[in-house]
Amino acid sequence: MNTVGHFHSNKPWSGTATRTSDIVNPSTGEVSGKVTLASKDDVDTIVEIAAKALPGWAATPPAKRAAVMFDFRDLLKKNIKELATLLSAEHGKTLPDAMGEIARGIEVVEFASSIPQALKGEYSEQVGSNVDSFSVRQPVGVVAGITPFNFPAMVPLWMYPVAIACGNTFILKPSEKDPSVVLRVAELLAEAGLPEGVFNVVNGDKEAVDALLDHPKVEAVSFVGSTAIGEYIYKRGTSNGKRVQALCGAKNHMVIMPDADMDQVTDALIGSAYGSAGERCMAISVAVPIGEDTADRLIESLAPRIRALKVAPYTDSTSELGPVISKQSFDKIHDYIDQGLEKGANLVVDGRGLKLQGYEGGYFIGGCLFDNVTTDMSIYQEEIFGPVLSVVRGKSYDDAVNMVNDHEYGNGTAIFTRDGDAARDFWSRARIGMVGINVPIPVPVAYHSFGGWKRSLFGDHHIHGMEGVRFYTRLKTMTTRWPSGIRTGAEFNFTSGKDA
Ligand code: NAD
Repeated sequence: MNTVGHFHSNKPWSGTATRTSDIVNPSTGEVSGKVTLASKDDVDTIVEIAAKALPGWAATPPAKRAAVMFDFRDLLKKNIKELATLLSAEHGKTLPDAMGEIARGIEVVEFASSIPQALKGEYSEQVGSNVDSFSVRQPVGVVAGITPFNFPAMVPLWMYPVAIACGNTFILKPSEKDPSVVLRVAELLAEAGLPEGVFNVVNGDKEAVDALLDHPKVEAVSFVGSTAIGEYIYKRGTSNGKRVQALCGAKNHMVIMPDADMDQVTDALIGSAYGSAGERCMAISVAVPIGEDTADRLIESLAPRIRALKVAPYTDSTSELGPVISKQSFDKIHDYIDQGLEKGANLVVDGRGLKLQGYEGGYFIGGCLFDNVTTDMSIYQEEIFGPVLSVVRGKSYDDAVNMVNDHEYGNGTAIFTRDGDAARDFWSRARIGMVGINVPIPVPVAYHSFGGWKRSLFGDHHIHGMEGVRFYTRLKTMTTRWPSGIRTGAEFNFTSGKDA
């Protein structure tokens, strides 16, 4: 059976720890491999390697670092099918979906290829007499990334291309549920010419994560995952003096105005609520139609489409959604459905009890649709992370805006309408990090930045784009006087350029 280890010095490394965790094929429920869980000593070894590679890489001209990213991008494109197959086999998502996530990740590599432009700095001539001032951005140091199972290729790609292009060295701790794709990507980075020690992978669980959070040579940590773990990582990392960004859980509302095109809304909800089995932090999990008539039309349009969804393993090219990731997730989603029923929500489409021939042990759940959900129910308040959409019937537009703003999460939201006034008011008032207008999953492109508000993000920076550059660099500002021979005498007071 295949055992997935770690990666450093541009080579796979099995480490010294003996603990392992099963990798389970979610389509069958069978163990398909094992992943090694690093000990603190293994993490220390990898941090030292990353720290040793840092000075040379930080001093490498940005254009040379960008050249590695160019070649890496070509290799990702060339190998995208192989990468997507590896990814789908462990995650369960459909092949086109896996290809899509890698393609979005490649866009971040393209952004990182333009890093000399982003690192240009600023210069002000003559801020005082013969005094100039300039600012540069320098790498933070050794950076760690801790990533979730749901985008095993794309979420790491949000981080390390920008971090590396900025001159940092990087240690990635992927999800132990689907770790293989990242190791293949690490080989491609080596093939692209990245020097040894610049990109490293350590597989593991809490022990490895805590060792990274406590290691004095790790300067910054990017985390993407659930809110409970993200908050813990943020607190522990920052209390150790590190820079931390933690992108976390979500409950994304789509507000449907009475004037919205219902066919367009239905298409948008089918993709955004059920694509990837709802295991996306930008999935729409709450629909808020405004007014009873809009709600009735929505349910009528949506229900047959959900019933017709093709649920199948990724090996079936007609599959529209695959299994959820684990038995634990499968049980948790069922538990939420029970809670919704107990509290009186109306389960219009029930995707439970699905048995696929030949895949009886798989974690498949068909699309589920709840109507008449209220804001006091757990299925409204908590992230289910499965193919379950809740419809909360909104009394008015203001009622919907309040729902969006009062929810503890603030990752994404969308409004569907033909009314420009409503759309503008909505994006302006929503206390949410990413807003879509007639766009259900408003994931920003790579040269903008991704991130939520409220309990969907701990820390000050969003990820990738210029926010990524700011997170992975420190600002340094110089004030210079040339020619140096001019005497100003001792200055006891602060002076400004205007005094000169
Ligand atoms: P998770 O929080 O369980 O795991 C994320 C990472 O943390 C993994 O690498 C895991 O090994 C590690 N981890 C787990 N338990 C830990 C512990 N006790 N101590 C230290 N480290 C620990 O998340 P997941 O289930 O893999 O991913 C799903 C979650 O990620 C959802 O909540 C989803 O919304 C969120 N997510 C958020 C974004 C975003 O950008 N906001 C993007 C993708 C996923």
